[in-house]
Order: sequence, then structure tokens, then C-alpha cells
Amino acid sequence: MKRFQWREAETAEEATNSTPTTVADLMVTGSRSNQRGSTRAPHATVIKAGGIDLLDLLKDNLIAPSELVNIRSISSLNQISYAKRQGLILGPLVTLAAIAEHKLIQKQYTALAEACSHIATPNIRNAATLGGNLLQRPRCWYFRSNDFHCLRKGGPECFAIPGDNKYHAIFDNEHCAIVHPSTAAIALVALGATIELTSAKGRREMPLENFFIGPNQDIERENTLAAGELITAIKIPDVETRSAHVKLGEKDSFDWSVGDCAVSLLMANGLCKKASIVLGAAAPTPWRAKKAEAFLVGKPITMDTAKEAATLALHGAKPLAHNAYKIPILQAATRRALLQAGSVS
Ligand SMILES: Cc1cc2nc3c(=O)[nH]c(=O)nc-3n(C[C@H](O)[C@H](O)[C@H](O)COP(=O)(O)OP(=O)(O)OC[C@H]3O[C@@H](n4cnc5c(N)ncnc54)[C@H](O)[C@@H]3O)c2cc1C
Ligand code: SF4
Repeated sequence: MKRFQWREAETAEEATNSTPTTVADLMVTGSRSNQRGSTRAPHATVIKAGGIDLLDLLKDNLIAPSELVNIRSISSLNQISYAKRQGLILGPLVTLAAIAEHKLIQKQYTALAEACSHIATPNIRNAATLGGNLLQRPRCWYFRSNDFHCLRKGGPECFAIPGDNKYHAIFDNEHCAIVHPSTAAIALVALGATIELTSAKGRREMPLENFFIGPNQDIERENTLAAGELITAIKIPDVETRSAHVKLGEKDSFDWSVGDCAVSLLMANGLCKKASIVLGAAAPTPWRAKKAEAFLVGKPITMDTAKEAATLALHGAKPLAHNAYKIPILQAATRRALLQAGSVS
């Protein structure tokens, strides 16, 4: 790990005034300047929240910023507030553990509490923040290795598509087959969350679903975070939906999923009025299963309709050489999440 300066920010303004670089920009610049691996970018400042992903990137020599700005002690960004009509507002520094343990979130935004409660391990959830979780970089093993100068790091080729792609995408995987790493994002997209971004120039807000971008929009980044911007809030409307998240993986703990699904259902008189079904570990972005969503409208949630919706959810999947096993896994996660959400009284 190379040496860097450390700065504490007490306010969001202090953090944005330090004109932070995004990690995506830094990885591409560093990688281009030596054609492989990182170099020290002159005056590159990077934001640090819980530091779980950032430290991995530093230790693996994938980035070498000259300065880290620690935002962990900005108390205004570590709040959970809820009011009728306003809905739920989460500061980006709220930890995954705080979300998982929050009684109102468990009851009203169940998919989010469930998703956060299954991320990594208890000690990681105590340190990891929601904002950092949404912005963690992909887990593709070629991307995480300094030995492979791949497309996402500004290089000439993808190594996973013709190589070892066991954990990679089965949708939208023609150019870069990462899967979106954030489990919280899957639940938040299903719940219709928006994201607030603040910089020295002002504030912008958008549906979280539109914040994430696929390889066809920009192969070097997973979202539209710009240099100088800070996530300052995640907002979820005051929903009347029932929701659930089911994560399936090789291990119960200490690992990302191989397939997960979040659903949010608006029910009336025993019938589904509106469904959101989002697949995780399936595509470079949280993947909306739109055919399955449309199929459920006007129907009750039964074993038969849940099975049919789960089949439709995987419609159009194009597995690579080593990951067709994900199709039945994601179907099972979808079916179980639908039955779980549909059975809540
Ligand atoms: C063994 C293991 C298993 C894991 N399993 C899972 C899993 O199943 N699901 C899952 O989702 N994750 C999993 N993770 C990843 C972990 O949850 C994330 O690394 C963590 O949530 C990142 O949060 P952080 O606060 O530590 O972010 P940091 O590492 O501090 O930051 C991450 C990125 O976000 C930027 N950043 C942070 N906050 C802001 C902000 N407010 N505004 C602008 N930029 C910001 C930083 O500059 C950096 O680029 C796992 C990790 C490990 C080690
Ligand atoms: S899947 Fe994406 S991140 Fe992985 S090697 Fe290919 S281009 Fe790089």
C-alpha cells in the first residue's frame, strides 16, 4: 500500500470542497498511466466511509490516492428519519447493521432489512455504510487482480467472457459480465428508492434505478456519480407494499450471493395491483424482471403464479460457459421472495 494523507471532514461541505475523485476515475487513470495496476495520481482525493471496500482496493494496489477524506464522523449524514407521506430517509453513513436492526424498517421496508441482515458478517455490517455499499466496486476476479488490464479498468479486453465466468452475469453480459455487487441496491430498487447527490455546484436527485448504469452506457463505471459528488441521502416513499428479499449463495455468511431477489407487492382484495421484482447477482445493474411484474398484476400470489412469475423472470437470460446454474437458483429466489411477501398479512 502506498502512503497517503488523511483528512477528517466534519461537514458535507468540507468533504465536497476537497473535490474528491471517484474511485472509478482513479482506477482508469492509474491503470492507463502504467498500462497495468495503479499509480499515484497527483492530488487525487478519495472519500472514505466505512472503508471496507476502499481498503481492499488500496491493499491490492488497485488505487493509490494521495489523500483520503474520512466522512465517518459527519453526524448529519448518519440519520434515519421517517414520517407519513415523506417516507423513509436514510443518511449514507447509516450502517448496514443499523438498517437490519431497525424495527420500522423491518416491518414496513422488510426487503431492505432482510437484504442488509444477510450482507457479509456482523462485524462488516457494523462498519459498512449504506452509501459505501451502493458504490463498492465489482467483485469480478479479473477486475480485482492487478495482473489483468481489463475493459472496466480502461484496458483492451474482457477476460471473464472467454474465461472463468462462474459468478458472472446472465443478462446484459455481451461486453462486460460483472454482476452488481450491492445487495442493498437490489432491495432499494424494488422499493422505488431515490438517491440524493450533493456537490459544491448543488444537488440532484434521481430514481436509484437510473443512477446505476450498464456496460453499454459506460463500461468503466457502475453509476453516474461525478467527481466532487457525495451521496447525501437515500429516500424511500411511504409504501403500502409488502416486500421480501431472498439471498442464495454458497455460504450463509461472509460471501456475496450467487443469486438473490427482492420483491415489493401492492395487494388489494387478495390480488396483486403492482409488483416490483429485482434480481441480484444476475446483471451489471439491479435487474428488473418486467415480464414477471406484468404477469402478476390482477392475480393472487399462489404457488402456481409465483412459479410462473419466476420462470418469466429468467426469460431472455443468456448464460456464459460456466454460469447456467444461476437460472434455477434465481428462479428459486424469485419464487420464495414472492411467496414470502405474498403471505404477509
Ligand atoms: C467477506 C465480505 C463479504 C461481503 N458480502 C457482501 C454481500 O453479500 N453484499 C454486499 O452488498 N456487500 C458485501 N460485501 C461488501 C461490503 O458490504 C462493502 O464493501 C461495504 O458495504 C462498503 O461500505 P463502506 O462504508 O465500507 O464503503 P467504503 O469502502 O468506505 O467506500 C466504498 C466506495 O464508496 C465511496 N463512498 C462511500 N460513501 C460515500 C458517499 N457518501 N458519497 C460518495 N462516495 C462515497 C468511497 O469513495 C468508495 O469508492 C462484503 C464484503 C466482504 C469483505
Ligand atoms: S467482466 Fe468486466 S470487470 Fe470482469 S474482466 Fe470482463 S471487463 Fe473486466
